Amino acid sequence: MTSESSYPPRHSVLDVTEGMSEKVTGSGRPWIQVWFECAGAYQKVFRSIDGTRYTATCPKCGKQMKFGVGPGGRSDRFFRISC
Ligand SMILES: [Zn+2]
Repeated sequence: MTSESSYPPRHSVLDVTEGMSEKVTGSGRPWIQVWFECAGAYQKVFRSIDGTRYTATCPKCGKQMKFGVGPGGRSDRFFRISC
């Protein structure tokens, strides 16, 4: 279990590193797992068609969280959002 208590939501866009460690499922599209605290639910978010970002939407409050894809981003596949 990782300690992410000081998770810094500076703004609503996070960068995600994609590349060698990219997990590709049977469907061929990489995805990330997002935990929405206010909804208490996970969402599996697939990468956009153009491959530049992930967009997660909270099932409860509707807040959108965008994850840019690029070098220098986090290599995590799991994100936690308080909204
Ligand atoms: Zn929410």
